[in-house]
Amino acid sequence: MPIDDGLIGGIHVARVTRAEAAADLDQHDHEAFQASTLDALLRGSLAGDLTIGELLDHGDLGLGTRNLLDGELIVVDGEAWVARADGSVVRAAPDDRTPFAVVCRFTAEIEGVVGPGGFDAVTAQVDALAPPSAACLAVRIDARVERASLRSVPRQDQPAPTLADAIAAQVVWEAHGFDAAIVGFRFPRDVDGLELPGWHLHLIADDRSVAGHVLDLEIARGRAQVEIQDELHVEVPAGVAVGRVGYDPERVRRLEDMERD
Ligand SMILES: [Zn+2]
Repeated sequence: MPIDDGLIGGIHVARVTRAEAAADLDQHDHEAFQASTLDALLRGSLAGDLTIGELLDHGDLGLGTRNLLDGELIVVDGEAWVARADGSVVRAAPDDRTPFAVVCRFTAEIEGVVGPGGFDAVTAQVDALAPPSAACLAVRIDARVERASLRSVPRQDQPAPTLADAIAAQVVWEAHGFDAAIVGFRFPRDVDGLELPGWHLHLIADDRSVAGHVLDLEIARGRAQVEIQDELHVEVPAGVAVGRVGYDPERVRRLEDMERD
């Protein structure tokens, strides 16, 4: 039986097993599906049980990582791509597994022009497109990227360190002048523990030459498409404890240091 966590920060959260997730493919609009929790990843659960193939059954747009943090995952147009730490971009194999990812079946409800501007300006423009009552947003921005600061993480060998250890080994690089799809989510701070509160964006160049977790960016004009999410189904692998969910300012500060610097 799914575990109903009720309404958390304006989004309805339910936990499911892998088998329950596989049996529940008639997903609704406004529903995001997540593999494991960010808190589990932080505490060193770097190997999940869900395959990329199973993940794609639940969504065509999203982001995440692969087992042992072997690259950043970008899901766009129903395809899963991996930005590796050497900067190369490869298709994820259907039987690759993920310890953390979130996807949705994306349907644009709201569209608008964004840019020119940087990460904060562009995400503020996307915020302004959505009604103030919207707790959680999925976004796709097709834009000319003038500059992007991108991150990936090399594969971590077992025994797994924590996410914080792994991110100390992250590779950061800059890319300039390319057309890309920027995809991701904005979650409310109350889902801290499950998800990264605030904006989390990954991008992939239209020609698939560049991809990664977005630390910073500068775009020319772009077109943003937004879907409001009001339901989050979290697949929790057997043996993975779900930590306390709820806003913890110290944890959010640590996450922001790791994810947005
Ligand atoms: Zn990321």
